[in-house]
Amino acid sequence: MNTCDNKKIKAVFFDQDGVLFNSMPYHAQSWEWSMNKHGLPFTAEQTYRNEGRTGASVINEAYHLIHGVEAPQELIEAIYADKSARFNELTGGQLPELIPGIREVLQYLHENGVQCWVVTGSGQRSLLSKLHDTFPGIFSGIITAFDVTHGKPDPEPYLKAWERSGFAKEECAVVENAPLGVRAGKAAGLLTLAVNTGILPDEALWAEKADRVFPNMTELLHFFQQ
Ligand code: CA
Repeated sequence: MNTCDNKKIKAVFFDQDGVLFNSMPYHAQSWEWSMNKHGLPFTAEQTYRNEGRTGASVINEAYHLIHGVEAPQELIEAIYADKSARFNELTGGQLPELIPGIREVLQYLHENGVQCWVVTGSGQRSLLSKLHDTFPGIFSGIITAFDVTHGKPDPEPYLKAWERSGFAKEECAVVENAPLGVRAGKAAGLLTLAVNTGILPDEALWAEKADRVFPNMTELLHFFQQ
């Protein structure tokens, strides 16, 4: 039985970083540290603006800004390895804390017969392997960097979740915190709900044509309960 109002919605595709886990501050610190270590200027705001892109494309863009050419593959690998190591150091190898209120949102949807999926650009197995432990029995499916050819902002990750879910597009919704994630959800033709858990202004999410922008998970829960 689906008693979730917005009664059409049968599956919700959740982004991971900044939606399930408060991991973005650690990503921002580790990106800044590893880029600077290899001579590339980089700020926390750039981490949030680029959120959702693959690591390689973030590095390539930063390199291109300075040098005007593509980054060498060895450098991409070195920076990404340093970034991942720093991230694990900062988090102590543990999952970052949950975004406040996310557990209640997932629980509400799950109890009301709405499928919850994770759609993330992350390829960090350390995070992915712990998802099911943290939210036992909640997720119907998980789409990661390993499942797609093109990461966000390409619509492919959300299209893949939609296809696998077997529902109609109007029965699915995306929950995102990042501008490029919103772009991916909209390009997939799905209702895209943004929750601004980061440091960018709401305008950055509206600019990508988010259908709603909420200040926190409690407001998102109220939307589903309407
Ligand atoms: Ca995110």
